[in-house]
Amino acid sequence: MHDCIIIGSGPAGLTAAIYLARYHLDIALIDNGSSRAALIPCTHNHAGYPGGINGRDLLERMYTQAKSFGVSRQTATVTAIEPVGDTFIVRMGDAVAEARTVLLATGVVNHRPKMDDALHDRALEQGALRYCPVCDGYEVTDKRVGVIGTGDHGMREAMFLRGFTQDVTLIAPDAEHMLDESCAKALDDAGVERVDGPCGGYAIEDGGLAFDTAHGRMVFDSVYPALGSTIRSELALAAGARGTDEGCLVTDEHQRTTLPGLFAAGDVVKGLDQISHAMGQAGVAATTIRNELNTRHPLRR
Ligand SMILES: Cc1cc2nc3c(=O)[nH]c(=O)nc-3n(C[C@H](O)[C@H](O)[C@H](O)COP(=O)(O)OP(=O)(O)OC[C@H]3O[C@@H](n4cnc5c(N)ncnc54)[C@H](O)[C@@H]3O)c2cc1C
Repeated sequence: MHDCIIIGSGPAGLTAAIYLARYHLDIALIDNGSSRAALIPCTHNHAGYPGGINGRDLLERMYTQAKSFGVSRQTATVTAIEPVGDTFIVRMGDAVAEARTVLLATGVVNHRPKMDDALHDRALEQGALRYCPVCDGYEVTDKRVGVIGTGDHGMREAMFLRGFTQDVTLIAPDAEHMLDESCAKALDDAGVERVDGPCGGYAIEDGGLAFDTAHGRMVFDSVYPALGSTIRSELALAAGARGTDEGCLVTDEHQRTTLPGLFAAGDVVKGLDQISHAMGQAGVAATTIRNELNTRHPLRR
């Protein structure tokens, strides 16, 4: 019986692992190797790294730190969380683990434009494809930027990027734009171009990402997909925790979900979807877990 099972070994899960191990708790850290942070070519907004740091390097440093306090990571996909009294059974296919508390730090997965994986990864590495204007809008200052998206979400992404450059084009992914009057007006007032789709025939050309649209072939220094994401909250929702309409987990200010003993941190919770936020939530969750377990039995045995 572990004190806590942490599901997910991204910035949130690893931060929680460091805290909980340093509180002398017995933890299991389970991960299936698909952290969004591993996709970051070089983050420049994460404090403490002048010159930036690659996402995989940051994760490796965090895991090395966790290991120094005795944490070891298990590679597996968690398939179910089952509350049993005031404990939990965590299933990984046929394998089972038990814990007094569970921390879900499973993140989200961005929906990608329709292109093959090799091109996707190359474009990402070169900064021709980007997913996070909060993270790297600074890097596209005064560049040619395309946003693939439409509706309210597409409009908001384009308007956010308009704060970094005057040259922003919003391209509908599949066919014609679906923009209500207020979205269209906001874009017009800000001078954001609108182009209909469908988008296809992606290639790296002229140092940027080129693709076909209803208005012919276009090329941008950087393209941001605004196609939504899948929130990996299904394990918690199936166990009975409450989610928002979008599927993010609802937590209180101590990162408790609505299911007692089940905590959540990072992108899977509604928030800024940033490393700093994931780390902050994980520190809060870990300390609450420690304090709650401390009321059940003395921690140092
Ligand atoms: C291209 C790109 C650039 C970015 N740049 C920046 C940046 O510069 N600065 C910044 O602050 N943020 C940046 N971000 C955002 C940042 O990556 C996320 O906010 C951060 O990774 C969230 O951490 P997390 O721990 O919540 O989730 P994740 O890092 O996504 O980790 C979740 C973990 O859960 C595991 N998992 C999921 N489901 C299961 C399961 N069922 N069983 C077992 N394991 C599971 C996954 O394997 C994964 O390791 C960027 C994101 C992208 C995509």
